Amino acid sequence: SSVFANVEEGAKIEVFALTASYNNDPFKDKVNLSVGAYRTADGKPWVLPVVKTTEMKVAADPTLNHEYIPVTGIEAFTKASTVLLLGEDSKAIKENRAVGVQALSGTGALKIGAEFLARKLGRSVVYFSDPTWENHFKVFRGSGFTTIKEYRYWDPVTRAINFDGWMEDLNNAPEDSVIVLHACAHNPTGCDPSEDQWKQIADVMEKKKLFPFFDSAYQGFASGDPIRDAFAVRYFESRGFEFLCAQSYAKNFGLYSERIGNLVVVQKESSTSAAVASQLTLIVRATYSTPPAYGARIVSTVLNTPELREDWMNCIRTMSGRIHQMRQALFKELTDLKTPGTWNHIVDQIGMFSYTGLNEQQVKLLIEEYHIYLLSSGRINMCGLNENNVAYVAQAIHKAVT
Ligand code: PLP
Repeated sequence: SSVFANVEEGAKIEVFALTASYNNDPFKDKVNLSVGAYRTADGKPWVLPVVKTTEMKVAADPTLNHEYIPVTGIEAFTKASTVLLLGEDSKAIKENRAVGVQALSGTGALKIGAEFLARKLGRSVVYFSDPTWENHFKVFRGSGFTTIKEYRYWDPVTRAINFDGWMEDLNNAPEDSVIVLHACAHNPTGCDPSEDQWKQIADVMEKKKLFPFFDSAYQGFASGDPIRDAFAVRYFESRGFEFLCAQSYAKNFGLYSERIGNLVVVQKESSTSAAVASQLTLIVRATYSTPPAYGARIVSTVLNTPELREDWMNCIRTMSGRIHQMRQALFKELTDLKTPGTWNHIVDQIGMFSYTGLNEQQVKLLIEEYHIYLLSSGRINMCGLNENNVAYVAQAIHKAVT
């Protein structure tokens, strides 16, 4: 018999399974609210116009070739990306205490960072928000973390952050635990701490000697302003924390498939930078040897060219603006229908996702009866909504909860 005979079939990845069911569904008015990508008002993927322009510029550049790029990536990219995160006036950058390493999108940055923490700093305990992006568990477990815990985050009753519970859990976390923090636009809840709450989080983490690992998958996409969305990360830098941050350009550049991201390591002393960079180099080398060039060329060209950067800012305002409009539209429909329950959270939440508060039974009904596809947690992607389907979705939610 085959050597593979005893391989068990692994669990399905919900988000991809739902999209497959959606694609196979012949129902005319079906709606996909499960995907983790931006959609236009016509329900189509969007190539940002600035990305299109830059692609043509890059393709026409006779000096470029397909040689390997350095293991740590294209420097013009990692530098610009680190500045986008920490700001033009970052002391860590000026003092050479911030190392940036190109990564395979946000997931790759988390992976390289988690391996570095586990293998080089001996960290084994990680805390995620409850709930979090489901892949965090797989990435950290696969990188050598053995104790995976959650801190309280979402309160289903208030449909907001359980801040006291969160602080209590951080207070009880063992010293040196790695705490994964969503920098902005928390996935899946769409609820972010206020600036004052970030200060309290920093206080507890400082006191309890907890290590922050920021996951920044939506910079600029949340509020439409990349500076505002970087508040938490920049605040931790200003407080003198050492931390890691995984950056993704999947959402804010629409470069999902190009796998472009950056891992930033902020340190107290510049004297550790060279050793840290060398260890990250070895991890990348052992994992996929060198990163791809395409996305790095696009992002660095945009970030380093003032006119293109301005165009990009307009694109992220367009995306976050449309999401904001859809929040208002869904809220209005549900309020007009007098759907039982409170729906303010739909407009109060930020980013692409909304945690509707719908339970598994209600979700099942939406999928089976109404052909509206969403995660069993009740998470919906606001960009799956548009002027043509928002009333239909609201009516279906109304029926599901009454
Ligand atoms: N982290 C969070 C919270 C996310 O939501 C995502 C994407 O959905 C990622 C990281 C990583 O995405 P990617 O690897 O495509 O950049």
